[in-house]
Amino acid sequence: MLADLDRIFTNLYGFRPWRLEAARARGDWVDTRALLDLGPDRIVEIVKDSGLRGRGGAGFPTGTKWGFMPKNPTPERPNFLIVNADESEPGSCKDREIIRHEPHKLLEGTLLAGFAIRARAAYIYIRGEYVREAQVLEQAVAEAYAAGLLGRNACGSGFDFDVFVHRGAGAYICGEESALIESLEGKKGQPRLKPPFPANVGLWGCPTTVNNVESIAVVPAILRRGADWFASIGRPGNTGTKLFQISGHVNRPCVVEEAMGIPFRQLIEEHCGGVRGGWGNLLAVIPGGSSVPLVPAHEIIDAPLDFDSLKALKSGLGTAAVIVMDRSTDIVKAIARISYFYKHESCGQCTPCREGTGWMWRVMERLVTGDAEPHEIDLLLEVTTQVEGHTICALGDAAAWPIQGLIRHFRPEIERRIARRRGFVSVPEALPQAAE
Ligand code: SF4
Repeated sequence: MLADLDRIFTNLYGFRPWRLEAARARGDWVDTRALLDLGPDRIVEIVKDSGLRGRGGAGFPTGTKWGFMPKNPTPERPNFLIVNADESEPGSCKDREIIRHEPHKLLEGTLLAGFAIRARAAYIYIRGEYVREAQVLEQAVAEAYAAGLLGRNACGSGFDFDVFVHRGAGAYICGEESALIESLEGKKGQPRLKPPFPANVGLWGCPTTVNNVESIAVVPAILRRGADWFASIGRPGNTGTKLFQISGHVNRPCVVEEAMGIPFRQLIEEHCGGVRGGWGNLLAVIPGGSSVPLVPAHEIIDAPLDFDSLKALKSGLGTAAVIVMDRSTDIVKAIARISYFYKHESCGQCTPCREGTGWMWRVMERLVTGDAEPHEIDLLLEVTTQVEGHTICALGDAAAWPIQGLIRHFRPEIERRIARRRGFVSVPEALPQAAE
C-alpha cells in the first residue's frame, strides 16, 4: 500500500475544508514563490525527470509536452494553458474529487505549469454537470486572487497570470483537446484535424497546452519533493502515484490514490473489500474507462495497473477508471450499452464515426439476443477496424475497442446466443475460466 507520507492528495475525501487557510495548512501555496524562482526551464526539466505521464488517458509525458511550447511568446500571440476538467468518460470520477476537495492544489499547479510554459493565462474547462464543483472552483480562484497568489505579480514573482473557469455544456467530445478549444472559442465542440497541434495553433490560433486536472495538481508536489521522489514510486516508465476510481461489482467502490503499477488484486483487496461474491465470481474488468477493451478475469487478476502492462494485455490504463464486472453481468449487453454511448456522443463530422458507431451499436443490440448470423461477428470486427484509426479524433477508436475486446475474449458466448436463438436450446453458457 502507498505510504501515507507519499500521498499527494491528503484531503481527497473532504474530511477537512477545501478553503485556502486549510489548504495552506496541508502544504498548498506554501512558498510557491521559491518554486517559481526555479525558472520555467528548470521546472520543465524536473517534470521531465519525474517521468510524469498525462493522467487524462493518453499517458503522454507531461514535461515533453510542455517542451513543445514556444519560448518567446509575444503580446500579440501569447501562450495559453488549458486545464481539461471535462471529465466525462464513463467510470471516471477522480478530477471531481480533486476539484471539490483540493481545488487549491489544482490552482497552485496551474500557476506553476502556466509559468513553466510561459502562458499568459489559463482556462479551466469544467464539465457542465459539475455544478457544485464549478462553484467551489470559482470561490477558490477568488480566494487565490484576493491573497495575491494569482493575477498581477502572482505570489510576488513579477509574473502576471490569470485563471478563468469555463463551464462546458455536457458534450463528451469536448474532453477531446481540440474540440475543447473550439468550444472555448464559442463554437460547436467539434475536434480539429491535426496537425497543426495545439502547441502551434491552439486557442484563438495561439500556442496552447492542454493538460488533465490530475496531471496539473501533482506538479507542486513534484517540485517540492523532487523528481527522484516521484520517480521512485511505481515502475520504470510508469512512475508516481495515481488516482484509481473503482466502480462496479466490488464490495466498496472508491477513489483512492495508489502507486502506479499496483497489481489489480491488491488494489481491490486493500481498498474495495474484494470482489462481490469472491474472486471466483469475477468475470472481466474494464481497467481504464469505457473506451478501453475489457480484460477477462484470469488475465487481469495479477496484472500491474499501469500504462505499459495494460497495453501488453491489449487494453489500456486510460484514466484508471476500473470497472469491475462479476459473473452476473450480461457482458454482451454491457458492451452494447457502451456502443450506444459512443454513437450518441459522436459529433458527426467524419463518416466512419458518424455512420460506423450507429451501425456497430445496432449489430451489438442484435448480438445481445442472438438475433444475428454467425458471419456477422467477423463482419462487425472488420467494421471496427475500418472505424479505428480512420477518424479525426479518437472517439472512433473508443467506439471500436470495447467491441474488439468483447469479440477477442467472449466470442464463444456471442456464438452461443446465436445458436440458442436458432433453436439449439441446450447450448451451455460460454464464459471464460474463473479467476483463482
Ligand atoms: Fe466527431 Fe467522431 Fe470524427 Fe471524432 S471521430 S471528429 S467524434 S465524427
